[in-house]
Amino acid sequence: MDIKERLKELGIKFTPAGDDIVILCPFHDDRVPSLSIFIIKGNKKYGIWNCFSCDASGNWEEFEEQYDELQLKVSVKSTKKKSGKRKIKRLREEIMDEFKPIKGVAETFLRERGITNYKDFELKYCPMNYKRWAWRGRIIIPIYDLEGKLLTIRCRRIIKPIKEKTKMISFKGIHLNTFFGANKLKDKERVVVVEGEFDAMYLQQFGIPAIAILGVGRQRFTSEQTAFLYKFKNVYLSYDGDSAGRTAQNRIHRYLLLEYVHVEQIKLPIDKDPNDLSVKEVKKIYKKAIFSVDGE
Ligand SMILES: [Zn+2]
Repeated sequence: MDIKERLKELGIKFTPAGDDIVILCPFHDDRVPSLSIFIIKGNKKYGIWNCFSCDASGNWEEFEEQYDELQLKVSVKSTKKKSGKRKIKRLREEIMDEFKPIKGVAETFLRERGITNYKDFELKYCPMNYKRWAWRGRIIIPIYDLEGKLLTIRCRRIIKPIKEKTKMISFKGIHLNTFFGANKLKDKERVVVVEGEFDAMYLQQFGIPAIAILGVGRQRFTSEQTAFLYKFKNVYLSYDGDSAGRTAQNRIHRYLLLEYVHVEQIKLPIDKDPNDLSVKEVKKIYKKAIFSVDGE
């Protein structure tokens, strides 16, 4: 399906402008068509777009994703107006019910990463015929708060690039006051903060009490997140071993020290994420650092 056909399907009116198209920008309150879509010559399925008024821009896939998010936001908003918070909660749970259990490609993807505890975290798979284009073929990761209430849903692409971080697919403006995996912790003494959901899941399989950052960014936590860390005698930071991860880890370390959190760093080998480590490395690095025992 080319871009024009797709716009028709989405019910978006467009005006041709030479080889390109202009539309009313859905991302701001647009009165005159401000968003131009430049169709890539020889391939009508691909285009880049830019709104000269609100400056939103991207490739075609990003248009679909952002438009999708917008539609969902509108539907959540109107449900909210109609019947308050309880309905919203139900709406999120209904969305989770539409996804399929992990199997096939999704299972292979996770198993290749050494992750077998996906059922514990209620991961799902979004089938290719799902109504929301931007979610298709992705692994769905529900995010729960400490009371086990579904807060939001994240998703991750199965196809390459493997290193791509997860992204939030909906419910923008949700206050993420927790960490991924925090509701699964049994250890009250110590906690290891990592960057990605898969890192946390991977480490939890070995009895490492790992949780992943959510929301505000790697170098800053919300006051609720910081307060959560106060509950533990020892907090360990174990971000990715690339230079961005190391810099972020040093910054958050300083921040948490200023907040009087008892925090230490666990540094990973260069360019390795927790999920890249072998079983042996996990034991050697983490067990020694947090339980003061040797790996083997
Ligand atoms: Zn705009």
